[in-house]
Amino acid sequence: MQNATKYPLNFVRFLGTSGTRFIMLSQRRASGGIWFTYGGSRGVIDPGPGSLVRICDAEPPLSAIDINTIILTHKHIDHSSDMNALVEGMTLKSREKKGSALMPRDCVSGGDAVLLKHFADRIKDIHFHEDRAVTKLVTGTTVESVAHKHHGVECYGLIFRGDGLPTWGVISDTSAQAHFPERYSDCRMLIINTTLPLPKATLDHMSAADAESLMQVLHPRLAVLTHMGNMLLDMGPERIASRISTDQTRAIAATDGMIINLDELS
Ligand SMILES: [Zn+2]
Ligand SMILES: [Zn+2]
Repeated sequence: MQNATKYPLNFVRFLGTSGTRFIMLSQRRASGGIWFTYGGSRGVIDPGPGSLVRICDAEPPLSAIDINTIILTHKHIDHSSDMNALVEGMTLKSREKKGSALMPRDCVSGGDAVLLKHFADRIKDIHFHEDRAVTKLVTGTTVESVAHKHHGVECYGLIFRGDGLPTWGVISDTSAQAHFPERYSDCRMLIINTTLPLPKATLDHMSAADAESLMQVLHPRLAVLTHMGNMLLDMGPERIASRISTDQTRAIAATDGMIINLDELS
């Protein structure tokens, strides 16, 4: 985590840290998803409302025209609304199809698509999540998809790997699943959509208590809580993160605009 005058070689920047529709609608926290620059891949995970604005406002500058990868973990509006605008950036002025995208199949089919056909037709490689599938992005880095359970929509977590690069993962919107400890075991950093303080049987979202249990098995070097709901924000996510940190894992709460240097995880 740092305030940079120049970006590290490999990094993530939080374009938003909001969880739930309520936080998205009030913009108590921004809802732009996560920018990543990793082994030549430059892209956004879950570009919700305001993603493009957050990219344009970023300091040091970022540009939607530099994007070569767009990833959706699922189709909910707080994760997908700016997808088409970012495809416009990714494919701007190109006569040929360009870039890659990874998303659940229900983002483009089923009569309720979030990616318009006009934009889908401009993307060079469209990949669909399947549990355990490893997708090679345009630049050679890979993303493994991890099945999630989230209110009846297709939803997947992500594990990024690249030669000589630290492995890191994203646990998106989901209730805690028994396969997470095995699947995320080699992640040096884990970004966890931690919406609630405590698990709630009716909500398919991770809680701070779920994140704490995972960390005690997985021991990533860094755990980053994001996608926070009202209750968690009211309680003070920084305090919660420091309470669940362990000797092996530093847990932090993401803030809008936060940059994490992935090279420091090596
Ligand atoms: Zn969400
Ligand atoms: Zn969702």
